[in-house]
Amino acid sequence: MPRTLDPELRRALAARIRYYNELGIYDFYRQPLSDCTEAVLISVDEDEIIVSTNIVSTSSVSTNQPESGEQMSPRKSAAVAVPVVVEENIFEAIALKPEQSVSDPVKALRIIREDLGDCMRCVLHKQGRKQIVFGVGNPTAELMFVGEGPGADEDAQGEPFVGRAGQLLNNMIKAMGIEREQVYIANIVKCRPPGNRTPERDECATCSPFLMRQIAVVKPKVIVALGAVAAKTLLAMSASMMQLRGRFYDFRPAGIRSNDPDWDGCKLAVTYHPAFLLRDPRQKGEAWKDLQMVMKELGMKAPAKGAE
Ligand code: SF4
Repeated sequence: MPRTLDPELRRALAARIRYYNELGIYDFYRQPLSDCTEAVLISVDEDEIIVSTNIVSTSSVSTNQPESGEQMSPRKSAAVAVPVVVEENIFEAIALKPEQSVSDPVKALRIIREDLGDCMRCVLHKQGRKQIVFGVGNPTAELMFVGEGPGADEDAQGEPFVGRAGQLLNNMIKAMGIEREQVYIANIVKCRPPGNRTPERDECATCSPFLMRQIAVVKPKVIVALGAVAAKTLLAMSASMMQLRGRFYDFRPAGIRSNDPDWDGCKLAVTYHPAFLLRDPRQKGEAWKDLQMVMKELGMKAPAKGAE
């Protein structure tokens, strides 16, 4: 049944959804009332706020965060049953960012960097970082690589993927027949986690909105998520690398819209993180298959040999 929301309530609801989106949370469930009951889902799909009801068994609704379940479904599949679209495009109105009024991507990226400032939004700012590692590369790249977070070399140089893993990534890019300067490279978190530990979920959620804004500026055709942390954060889903690899996902940066009406998101592929490939070189062939899939999507001619 269509519902008409009070305009005030609708605005407040949109603001709250936007807030949670920036934290990486997309779907909302009312607490189940019994083993089999009605759940209310409020989600944002593209530029629409969707209010939907769904009869569920308690066991089918997980309120766990992504890493708690290897088989967790993609978030879009959660929005089911008779969706009721709120007629006014209010999400677009509240998603505007300062860089969206700028057409020059170099300037737009600079605005995001200035907005980030000397960031202290998560604990990583006080755990030994030397500097923020924002991102590097072609601001209009067709291909973007997203890793997990800076390591010691990246922290020292202020550029992502410059250590041993970076060398391997460079080789992977070269093997595709292009140069590092032609792609854009960034990470989920912009500060080095101490001891190269995996970034915590809240750190990823706090930092990734800035990455989403970078993606909306660069407007790549394809993003390659390097490793599980990047894949799970970008896709807001949890699954094993084996399940995540080998296919494309339709991707739109959460909580932000590009100022280009012709860019409505991109494809996203998942492959192994170069640091993992250094530890287990036997998987290089699998990573090469992923990159070949990307090259086909981008219309690039596949060289005969993969990355060494
Ligand atoms: S990791 Fe991101 S959110 Fe956390 S302090 Fe660094 S720049 Fe800020």
